[in-house]
Amino acid sequence: MTTPELIDTRTPDPKNFIPGDDHDWEMVIGLEVHAQVSSQSKLFSGASTEFGREQNSNVSLVDAAMPGMLPVINEECVAQAVRTGLGLKAQINNKSVFDRKNYFYPDLPQGYQISQFKQPIVGEGTIIVRVGPDKKGNYEEVEIGVERLHLEQDAGKSLHDQHPTMSFVDLNRSGVALMEIVSKPDLRSSEEAKAYVTKLRTILRYLGTCDGNMEQGSLRADVNVSVRKPGGEFGTRCEIKNVNSIRFVGQAIEAEARRQIAILEDGGKIEQQTRLYDPLKGETRSMRSKEEAHDYRYFPDPDLLPLEFDDAYVEALKKDLPELPDDKRARLISEMGLSAYDASILVADKAVADFFEKVAEGRNGKQAANWVINDLLGALNKAGKSIDQTPVSADQLGTIVDLIKDDTISGKIAKDLFEIVWNEGGDPREIVEARGMAQVTDSGAIEAAVDAVIAANPDQVAKVLDKPSMIGWFVGQVMKSTGGKANPKAVNELLRKKIGL
Ligand code: ADP
Ligand code: MG
Repeated sequence: MTTPELIDTRTPDPKNFIPGDDHDWEMVIGLEVHAQVSSQSKLFSGASTEFGREQNSNVSLVDAAMPGMLPVINEECVAQAVRTGLGLKAQINNKSVFDRKNYFYPDLPQGYQISQFKQPIVGEGTIIVRVGPDKKGNYEEVEIGVERLHLEQDAGKSLHDQHPTMSFVDLNRSGVALMEIVSKPDLRSSEEAKAYVTKLRTILRYLGTCDGNMEQGSLRADVNVSVRKPGGEFGTRCEIKNVNSIRFVGQAIEAEARRQIAILEDGGKIEQQTRLYDPLKGETRSMRSKEEAHDYRYFPDPDLLPLEFDDAYVEALKKDLPELPDDKRARLISEMGLSAYDASILVADKAVADFFEKVAEGRNGKQAANWVINDLLGALNKAGKSIDQTPVSADQLGTIVDLIKDDTISGKIAKDLFEIVWNEGGDPREIVEARGMAQVTDSGAIEAAVDAVIAANPDQVAKVLDKPSMIGWFVGQVMKSTGGKANPKAVNELLRKKIGL
């Protein structure tokens, strides 16, 4: 690709500076994320994309590059790329071109990868990234530019550990559609880079265009790192290939920046290289230098026409786009009155957001948010479970919230009820009934408890007459003696009447 002009969009921020011998250093980071398109079949063939099938079972004649086989574009993959472009608020190119990127590798049967070079399907866009919290608990919002998104084929996989003297090739991935999403060099710290990948993954999952599963390789990042004097000219970058977890993205950047700074402070020069990150050693090592870089001899693939569609096609996809995380966050704040912090937590994971919205439907949003964040997510976190493994369903949690709302149970009893539902399952209403957990609303029973507490504490009664705010202590005593089942409001009223406040 004609290398895009590097433009510095950021004001240097001392919080990102790395102290050096003579002067501070600043990192510059740009990411190329490969995201596997969610689709039933491959980019140019009808073979399945299902993960985990037996080796070489998802392979059509096209994917195996049999002579005379011709690629046919999968319209769903095109739609997914356009949806993603729209989700990144990016320029959608009505005309794009597929090129051949020529190189030899045993897991690439065609001898070239079909990709997009000069004319990608999606141009410039943006991702809003939130970094933090800082020591004061504040989050910072930064806008990171997206250079382009293009469609390309994945390669197969060489298996070197199956036989002592032979390597095998698995072509199940061969021809699977990838979106390569290239950021501008707008990132200035490993924190920002991690937040960028996290946010991009969230957006892709909301859109349903990539499952974002890094363990299965559905999302992987090439990380470009350079260092410079703060606000100075861009330095020479090194590219760390195929980083497959968000944690490793952060570690690889830190390690690579340290390496580059050490070289520069020694009076050396950075050589443009492709490198690998070794998580065990915590360092990057060279794969190849610029001189060894491939000459891919890109040219338009003669088997494929340019990809063209009209505005109406894009508009139709736009109309059906789901609500995106930033919009959802804004809505939870403005319509449900949630704090920015709570809203951010809830929207970060689409599955959590969906769960929350089910609980909140027809109920008080803040109360639902409290239960989902503090109780449910807290318990899941403690148990090492994800939201789709939750033992308490949205319906069950919603019912617990209802039981508090209609004064059937107190907030304190609700915590016990939550634990019972978590451990044993069941309908919360029936559990409350069966185990006698309902608040005592029978005023006779409350009255007896109030009388008993007053009779047992004459000294305190004398004090509370002096200092009415002490009534809380009495309420606490009555709640204790009723096992938390008395209605605190009723207790309070009755106590005041009886003591004569
Ligand atoms: P290539 O395929 O040669 O790596 P791309 O243009 O696809 O080229 O990707 C280059 C990536 O490197 C982009 O994410 C870009 O933002 C980033 N980048 C370019 N220059 C620098 C630099 N000096 N420091 C850090 N990142 C850079
Ligand atoms: Mg690259």
